[in-house]
Amino acid sequence: MELLRRPWRLGSLELPHRVVMGSMHTGLEPRGDGGEALAAFYRERIEGGAALAITGGISVNEEARGGPDYVVMTDASTIASYRRATRAVHDAGGFLSAQLFHAGRYAVGEWAVAPSPVPWRAARGLVPRELTGADIERTIADFAASAAAAREAGFDAVELMASEGYLLNQFLSPLTNQRTDEWGGDSVARMRFPLAVFEAVRAAVGSDFPVSVRISATDLMPGSTTEAEVDAFALALADAGVDALSMGVGWHESRVPTVQASVPHGAWIAYGERLADSVHARHPGLPVIGSNRVIDLRDAEGVLARGHVDAVALARPFLADPEIVNRSFAGEFALINSCIGCDQACIDRSLVFREISCLVNPRAGRETEFPLGITNARKSVAVVGGGPAGLAAADDLARRGHDVTLFEARAELGGQFGLAARVPGKEDYALTVRSAAKRLAAAGAQVRTNERADAARLAAFDGVVVASGVTPRAVDIAGAGLPHVLSYEQAIRQGVPAGTVAIIGGGGIGVDLAAFLVESHDEKTRALAFEERFGLDGAAEFARSRPTRALHRPRPGDEVTVLRRSGKFGQGVGITSRWVNVGALQHAGVRMLSGIDYRRITPEGVEVVHADGTIELIPGDTVVVCAGQEPHEDLSAELVSAGIPHEIVGGARDARSVDAVRATSEGLAAARAL
Ligand code: SF4
Repeated sequence: MELLRRPWRLGSLELPHRVVMGSMHTGLEPRGDGGEALAAFYRERIEGGAALAITGGISVNEEARGGPDYVVMTDASTIASYRRATRAVHDAGGFLSAQLFHAGRYAVGEWAVAPSPVPWRAARGLVPRELTGADIERTIADFAASAAAAREAGFDAVELMASEGYLLNQFLSPLTNQRTDEWGGDSVARMRFPLAVFEAVRAAVGSDFPVSVRISATDLMPGSTTEAEVDAFALALADAGVDALSMGVGWHESRVPTVQASVPHGAWIAYGERLADSVHARHPGLPVIGSNRVIDLRDAEGVLARGHVDAVALARPFLADPEIVNRSFAGEFALINSCIGCDQACIDRSLVFREISCLVNPRAGRETEFPLGITNARKSVAVVGGGPAGLAAADDLARRGHDVTLFEARAELGGQFGLAARVPGKEDYALTVRSAAKRLAAAGAQVRTNERADAARLAAFDGVVVASGVTPRAVDIAGAGLPHVLSYEQAIRQGVPAGTVAIIGGGGIGVDLAAFLVESHDEKTRALAFEERFGLDGAAEFARSRPTRALHRPRPGDEVTVLRRSGKFGQGVGITSRWVNVGALQHAGVRMLSGIDYRRITPEGVEVVHADGTIELIPGDTVVVCAGQEPHEDLSAELVSAGIPHEIVGGARDARSVDAVRATSEGLAAARAL
């Protein structure tokens, strides 16, 4: 960590290390609690070692709001809220930068404005209003006023959001800026608005106040800004006196996935490096911050060792583990709760204007609701089940000083996460399980694998968390008992023999199972395929090369058919991941057949009935059933009659949908309820 630990300067700020907590929209902003939740959220991460955190986007005016849960920087209530947050950050010894934000055509509301009236595909018919020349002048003034308000609120810096396809980025791109006045035209004219915004902000805050700009290193949009144009914009900002450039990547409407679990680690760093080289050729001292899909500070150290960018920003890993910096700098990597790239509790929620949290750290965003601190009423608590819900409960109980015993019937911890970790692209699920086990051991908890707990045994505890998980649901189809019919759990644990496979059920598990069958289990191989498929440079640089599982023989996509009676394939998978996961299967040639009914399973496969009544035999040397789950819970009746206080959580409580976010959240709530 030597390179990360070198001090550096962001304008007038002296920063002790080169890890930046990147911007995330939290949804906590409009809570109306005077900034209490925001203050707790940022303070905890500064205490965990972040020196500089950048807020989620704060709108510069009403029409800049991305949605109804965005606040406006110049509002008195916003200034008051953030004054509390900046004070908390300063008390913890860190710095907070305000990201000044304008959604432009990405605003989800009738107030959306844009350089030109070009809607995006998720706008559901909403056409953004074209900004007039007067609107543009007013918007520039609003950026300046917001920067001044940020300074008034105690922020240490501001970052202008000019990436990910938001307004400043929209002005730069010929796709969205089709203006014929002075604010549009050639690439020089298209830069005019974002540069005017920067200059107005600089004038508003003065030369001693750090201003950084997050620029799009690549839009990942055919026909959008070119590399030369990106460089020209970066250099123009550098010439104008920007204090740092931070890289962003990919527009929200890009067809190239950028943030999902299947995106190789560090896939985008090469784009930041190219940008940094170009900037440093003229401005060698100007910091360029690399980012995106870096989840491990050992990778971040490796990024700095390559000698191009000057610092590294991580965002979601700070949700997963607020202590990531302290733990990394102390060499305690095994204790770090890793971001698994699921997006389920963070990005997917922010897209529907809900407060974000984190699947693997359900306290995230709820720091005030679930404060830390050692208990003064120590209890002896049993947790039954070592899947995500049980681990979340045990982790919280042990951390707060309770006497915890975790019973897991299997030989290893993880439950459904253990299965998910065997799916290509989800390898990081194993990291969060492993780190939970390490934290439990460090906190003195007893972990008893290969042990079932019955009520008699549990009677010795003050309380019990029942997190015994789920079992695969069987199907009532003729032939379901044939020997070549496997549950998804059997298929993943034992592997699937060579030959054709018919998958009954196309929800999240069916899609994962198909990926398990057709995709390489070697991360490096998969990263190279990702690079090739999307025509990228350097996306595989940081991919780890783990050995392919002996059980796994990637098979051609056309040997696999996923069947679904009705509904979307991958239903239940989060909005940001479903299209990526299903698209990967389509790309691999997996046949996906819906609108059918099941007639029977034969030794040759599955006979289905199409809507027009025709019958088709879907080849299946192996048939795998992915038809949901049943609660695995046989303790509560006994616990009730024995009068043992207990909470039932996760799949054991409700197995109707695969929802690990709910499971871990319930685990945490149970840990606090006992
Ligand atoms: Fe990472 Fe998932 Fe947590 Fe988001 S919810 S921070 S993607 S682990």
